[in-house]
Order: sequence, then C-alpha cells, then structure tokens
Amino acid sequence: MSKLCAVFGGSRGIGKAVSQLLAEKGHRVVVIARDLDAAHATASTLGADHVALKCDVSKEQEIQQTWEKIQTGLGHVSYLVNAAGVNRDGLLLRTKTEDMLTQLHTNLIGSMLTCKYSLRGMLQNQGGAIVNLGSIVGLKGNAGQSAYSASKAGLVGFTRSLAKEVAGRNIRVNLVAPGFIHTDMTSGMDEEDRRRTIPLGRFGEPKDVAHAILFLLESPYITGQVLVVDGGLQLTM
Ligand code: NDP
Repeated sequence: MSKLCAVFGGSRGIGKAVSQLLAEKGHRVVVIARDLDAAHATASTLGADHVALKCDVSKEQEIQQTWEKIQTGLGHVSYLVNAAGVNRDGLLLRTKTEDMLTQLHTNLIGSMLTCKYSLRGMLQNQGGAIVNLGSIVGLKGNAGQSAYSASKAGLVGFTRSLAKEVAGRNIRVNLVAPGFIHTDMTSGMDEEDRRRTIPLGRFGEPKDVAHAILFLLESPYITGQVLVVDGGLQLTM
C-alpha cells in the first residue's frame, strides 16, 4: 500500500537516494530541504505525485510549519527519514562555539523535533516508522569531529529512548550509522588513503544506505536498533 513519506534532507546525497527508492516502491514522498529549488529538482525526478517543501531543521518554527503543511495538505506521514545533517570538522581547540551549536541544532535537535512533530499524525494513523541518520563516528568517535560525533551519539540515545516511548503505539524508531559515503559531505576528503582502511575497499554509495533505511522502515518487528552501513570499517576501528 502506498504510504506518505517525509524525507528531511531529501534533496541531495543519502536523502535523495532514499527518496528515489521510496518513490520506486510506489510511495508518495515529501522532499524537504533548505534549498527549495534543489528539493523541487529532486521531487520532479520522482514523478508527478511527489512534493517539495522548504524547511531549515535548525529552526523549530519552520519544522512546526512544515508539519502543519504536510498534515493539512497531504495527510498523515507513515514513514519519516531524518537525513538532514551538516559537519564542521576541526580539532576541538579550533572549533568555534557557533559551529558546535550548528551541528547540534541541525543533526541532533533538528531530528528530535521532526520526530516530535511527526508523532501526532502517527498516533492518529495508529502506527509509523522513523529512521534517523547517525554515523559510525557517533559510535566510535573521530579526532577532528568531536562536536559532529556528539550530535550523532546523542541521536543513538534519543532513538533508543523514543523507541521505548512509542513502541506501544505501533511506532518504530531506528538509526542507520553510515561510514564513508560518496556525497557532497565527503567530496573534500582524500579518498585514496581512507579506502585502504575499509574492508570492502570502497566508499559506499548513497543507494547502499538507502536500501538499509528502506529495510528498517519496512521491518515490522525491528525497533530501537542501530544498523551500521560502513563496508566493514567498524571492524577496523
Ligand atoms: P549531503 O551534504 O549530501 O546532504 C545533506 C542534506 O541535508 C541536503 O539535502 C541538505 O539540503 C540537507 N540539510 C542540511 N542542513 C539542513 C538544515 N538545516 N535543514 C534542512 N535540511 C538540511 O549529506 P549526506 O547525504 O552525506 O548526509 C545525510 C546524513 O547522513 C547526514 O545526517 C549525515 O550526517 C549522515 N552521514 C553521512 C555520511 C557520509 O559519508 N556522507 C557518513 C555518516 C553519516 P540543504 O542544504 O538544501 O538544506
């Protein structure tokens, strides 16, 4: 059955790949990002039935307005994917407080708030599924990414706690923790050196992560789990 899906950070990278996969499965997708033109461009590649909305997840008022638009205009969302994320890499001593807060507000608080505002519709729908995007560095840590890692580690605790809170209402909450994936976020990295540390010998593609997200959205008996999608990188860390 076709479901209404909201993908925050759906215009590019992993969010775009999961939007494409959900549309291929016959679901209706709301592609959400700060750059409305980019969100429109992605939504238009999915087909006529799909919608683009503008929202900055670091701003609660915009999240609230976005959910109002979705719920009044399109209906209740069954699947929520939180793929909006930013990184501001650097050693802690050189990291500005402003950059720490940007990462925490976007990656952690933003995902917490989109979950919060999605729940009313999911409760009325008597069910739903959420996948948050964490990161391997939120599990293992990484020098030069302390604030980013903190935001992603926070999402693990949040995901598990919310899963417990809403399981009795048939709402499932899981987290996917990618390793290195080919997107704009990793485009500045020296790939050659890093590739040697990955047992599968390559960076992941956005669709590698999208398949894991879809699996968790569709798995009726899995909740509160962290699924690592990293080509085996975690085995070496
Ligand atoms: P990209 O940079 O390719 O895309 C990020 C997406 O998030 C874009 O759609 C962007 O659109 C949106 N976005 C960023 N900031 C905001 C905001 N404040 N409000 C709303 N939307 C926002 O990133 P990836 O696809 O690589 O990453 C997706 C998720 O996966 C992120 O949470 C990232 O931390 C995580 N991840 C990625 C890894 C990788 O190797 N690529 C590894 C581990 C985790 P716009 O700029 O228009 O808002």
